[in-house]
Amino acid sequence: MKALTYLEQGKFALTEKPRPKLQQPGDAIVRVTMSSICTSDLHIKHGSVPRAVPGITLGHEMVGIVEEVGEQVTAVHPGDRVTVNVETYCGECFFCQHGYVNNCTDPDGGWALGCRIDGGQTEYVRVPYANQGLNKIPDSVTDEQALFVGDILATGFWAARISEIQPDDTVLIIGAGPTGICTLLCVQLKNPKRIIVCEKDGERIQFVREHYPDVLVCTPKDCEAFTRANSEHGGADVVLEVAGGKDTFRLAWQAARPNAIVTVVALYDQDQVLPLPEMYGKNLTFKTGGVDGCDCAEILKLIEEGKIDTTPLITHRFPLSQIEEAYRVFENRLDGVIKVAIVNP
Ligand SMILES: [Zn+2]
Ligand SMILES: [Zn+2]
Repeated sequence: MKALTYLEQGKFALTEKPRPKLQQPGDAIVRVTMSSICTSDLHIKHGSVPRAVPGITLGHEMVGIVEEVGEQVTAVHPGDRVTVNVETYCGECFFCQHGYVNNCTDPDGGWALGCRIDGGQTEYVRVPYANQGLNKIPDSVTDEQALFVGDILATGFWAARISEIQPDDTVLIIGAGPTGICTLLCVQLKNPKRIIVCEKDGERIQFVREHYPDVLVCTPKDCEAFTRANSEHGGADVVLEVAGGKDTFRLAWQAARPNAIVTVVALYDQDQVLPLPEMYGKNLTFKTGGVDGCDCAEILKLIEEGKIDTTPLITHRFPLSQIEEAYRVFENRLDGVIKVAIVNP
């Protein structure tokens, strides 16, 4: 089968690999029907994910059809259409039992697929702990509707869940990339009084204005003043920092009101400064990433009920044979791309 493989830093290529086989009783083999490219894949390419193992198949956003299951797999059966979770977790360790599945202590726990073990930018993928890692897609939900459930939508859902959003709140979301938009959709489900999105890219601002007309939009330059002018207590009650830019962490805590919650969803390429003397007296609560991706069943239900729709994010579609071209378009942000779907016939 064809698989997009991480050869070495800076180098991905479509190579020929044998089809994966069951290795553990909890494994499932999934025939991938659709996958996507995530910014984290680019982080692997650029060497900022040291855990990534050369030789692995990339891809951690995918949906497919269960082909084969190990003897311990009871949650799904061959023929089921499923979403695949970016995180592998055992379901039994201390962290899993508390819902902190990102910190599962299993050697394969956390982000393994498409990073430390073979992922989904291919035709078939082996999913360990399939009882936790796979969720059945309701019949009325399409592959495109379900494509982001296991990764960026799980991230947005988790971020909104831990941010303790109240009905009277002004919520500031920094960054309107794919994960920022997923975060916005999940924050909307909490019905806060006001949502402000801060974004610097003109095309992305246009996208937010067009699809989410109730949301206020500002740029990083005017973010602090704009947020103060559009909130009651000198800043945002809740800030979700999804951008991961050079100055966006500083922006996040500066645009927050005293005693606000600042949730850091972003993955930074560089260290950030926490200037405690400057912050003293602001009494902020910080919550940091990464995602505990254990709400996928609930997210699929919300999609089925029409409460979450991420399909506008899919701006481009390519067959697996053209995935290198898809990367070129995604990486260079050509042609107004937000997300690409890699479709297997
Ligand atoms: Zn990702
Ligand atoms: Zn665990």
